[in-house]
Amino acid sequence: MPAKQVLIVEDERPIREMIAFGLKRAGFEVREAEDCRSARAALADSRPDLVLVDWMLPDMSGLELTRALKRDRETRELPVILLTARAEEGDKVAGLEGGADDYVTKPFSPRELLARINAVLRRSGTTSVDELIEFDGLVLDQGSHRVTAGGRTVALGPTEYRMLEFFMTHPERVYTRDQLLDRIWGGNVYVEERTIDVHIRRLRKSLEDFGYDHLVQTVRGSGYRFSARTA
Ligand code: CA
Repeated sequence: MPAKQVLIVEDERPIREMIAFGLKRAGFEVREAEDCRSARAALADSRPDLVLVDWMLPDMSGLELTRALKRDRETRELPVILLTARAEEGDKVAGLEGGADDYVTKPFSPRELLARINAVLRRSGTTSVDELIEFDGLVLDQGSHRVTAGGRTVALGPTEYRMLEFFMTHPERVYTRDQLLDRIWGGNVYVEERTIDVHIRRLRKSLEDFGYDHLVQTVRGSGYRFSARTA
């Protein structure tokens, strides 16, 4: 299988090189661009499987670049992950509305970024190297869709699996029911918010036997969070 190619658009060289290093080590082919102009040139030259776009770029914002890519028929299908240093909710929403397939907030760990890249590649149908996501001894295999705890299989329904996969690739953050609906079911389906609670309960029940149900935390008045820390 040929290596998947990722184009990194980031003007800050140390960050760009750090990301490139991690991706190369994970078996990706990497191309780098320091602004939108050189990103355009790189895209005209060869088609990557995914683009990582930093929000703050010198010639044009990463959001504008994402919008432009998603407007263009040639690049519309290209998965884009926005890198942002801004934690404000409004920017994330703008990023996703601008067509980004996901966003990662700086600072992020190479492992988190890799997990998100693999999740986006898998959603877009171009499966990457099978990735094992591990959280506190709980292991999720994105290739086989199997979850294990201490080597024992955790039986999960398909929705609970997707939910757990989302949580394990987006830990330590609070998501409202609305956001979870959007990210796990996709924005086009009509699902009642309380359906989320039902699946959360099922997920906790499945994790309970293995002592991992505490990871799925209710944040009163807000939503849910996946974390090993107690609130
Ligand atoms: Ca930047």
